[in-house]
Amino acid sequence: WQPHLPLAGSLNATELVSHWTAIFEKRGIPEAQASSEYIVAHVLGAKTFQSLRPVLCTQPLTSRQLQCVQELSSLRLQRMPVQYILGEWDFQGLCLKMAPPVFIPRPETEELVEWVLEEVARSPCAVGAQGGPLILEVGCGSGAIALSLLSQLPQSRVIAVDKGEAAICLTQENAQRLQLLDRIRIVPLDVTLEGSRAHLLSWGLVDLVVSNPPYIFHQDMEQLAPEIRSYEDPLALDGGVEGMDIITQILALAPWLLKDSGSIFLEVDPRHPELVGSWLQNRPDLSLDIVAVRRDFCGRPRFLHIRRSGP
Ligand code: GLN
Repeated sequence: WQPHLPLAGSLNATELVSHWTAIFEKRGIPEAQASSEYIVAHVLGAKTFQSLRPVLCTQPLTSRQLQCVQELSSLRLQRMPVQYILGEWDFQGLCLKMAPPVFIPRPETEELVEWVLEEVARSPCAVGAQGGPLILEVGCGSGAIALSLLSQLPQSRVIAVDKGEAAICLTQENAQRLQLLDRIRIVPLDVTLEGSRAHLLSWGLVDLVVSNPPYIFHQDMEQLAPEIRSYEDPLALDGGVEGMDIITQILALAPWLLKDSGSIFLEVDPRHPELVGSWLQNRPDLSLDIVAVRRDFCGRPRFLHIRRSGP
């Protein structure tokens, strides 16, 4: 099925958005209007439809522009996330390049970054030798967390690891675009593998560990939206039976990663604060305590601050 093509000179941007919104709605595409607005704005060189200059909204589109919108919209009809279609997305005010299958940063993760920034600002123990914290990010994906922390903490340095090759390349590219390469070390590493401990240890102990690990319960993977299931790397999402495989791996590595009084900040599923609490009770050897749980903008407990109290 092919939606009929509008003729060159026949539609302006506002009309084209309505045209594609109607098609998306008819085909059951989620966020039909937002999707068509992003696509049309992108083709006209703007970030959002609202920021388009009024003259561009009323001017008829050229056949080249119509064709571009048609091509990008057909990707949306195949349920490709709009972030991949546009090839870039904003996170914490940074424009990051996006490319499948690298995990797309979600808005709630901005809250995790804000929490880390608040804690760094008020906690003297998070200040590293060179005046800023040394931070490890596990599972850096596009580099969203690492790069936004670096850009807002000018004294900090980050080690960003990920097991996915595409993620490592994308973090590298984003760091370069944002001119943050001099304070980040980007390393392909799977923390679940034997030998990763030695590798991590070779960089010295860090002040903070931050992660938005894969935490979806394996049996919930089937229910994910087609946008996620068909395009994003399952390795960035599937956390095993209870969604805890990577979370527990990070916690178990804490003695080899974290300075005494160092902190771990994690984004988790709302069921995890309790599960992580019980897991830690059985591992007193790790000297880790949940010191705070934060809720996301929907009121769900989604972020953990865990501190190491020393041996
Ligand atoms: N919040 C993400 C989602 O629902 C999952 C993120 C993750 O596993 N780290 O798609």
